[in-house]
Amino acid sequence: MAITVLVVEDERKLRELIRSYLERAGMTVLSTGSGAEAITMAMQSAPDLVVLDLGLPDIPGETVAAELRTMSAVPIVMLTAKAAEEDRIRGLELGADDYVTKPFSPRELVLRVQAIVRRGARAPESHVSSYGDGVLVIDEPRRTVTVRGTPVQLTPTEWGILGALATVPGRVYSRFELINKVRGYEFEGYERTVDSHVKNLRRKVEEDPGSPRVIMTVLGGGYRLGLARDD
Ligand code: CA
Repeated sequence: MAITVLVVEDERKLRELIRSYLERAGMTVLSTGSGAEAITMAMQSAPDLVVLDLGLPDIPGETVAAELRTMSAVPIVMLTAKAAEEDRIRGLELGADDYVTKPFSPRELVLRVQAIVRRGARAPESHVSSYGDGVLVIDEPRRTVTVRGTPVQLTPTEWGILGALATVPGRVYSRFELINKVRGYEFEGYERTVDSHVKNLRRKVEEDPGSPRVIMTVLGGGYRLGLARDD
């Protein structure tokens, strides 16, 4: 099945360059230079992934990302001219799965898009697991997570982190291990990246994100699942 990517970039030449690379990699590409139009297109076409420039003329890319997040867990790769770490972290906190700093190589962008899409399409293992007397239910074949009976939508990165922690409940996973489980390449600033995703995850799975019981922080160690696996 063809993968559909929505490319949101106001620089026409760059937009067309990205389009041609993605199309050559076998993907179907929709594109726009407007943030408002991007939101409408995402609603109508439900793309498999969004490549989103942060510097758009009508509304900021950050706002577009936040808006997309209210509708779906579609993976977002941000294009940013802002190389400062704080800006990158902010993008990840908004729910982006990855970011690429301009200027970038289109080939690298394609590789990252493919890595994220592959992660989302990975062959499911055939079982449903329950943790903490049913507080957390992970349905791998359907790639759904239910928290206290309510389904929650996770981005591919969040799914990867939670899935890794749930492999062996109680075992401490370092940030380095976690980022390696969800990404297939070296990642600069990985520690704070993991922290940003965990912060987003906690908003979705914790009753009180301020005092987490599902995803526990282990000082100097990393993270562990705070719930035992049910029989
Ligand atoms: Ca721009």
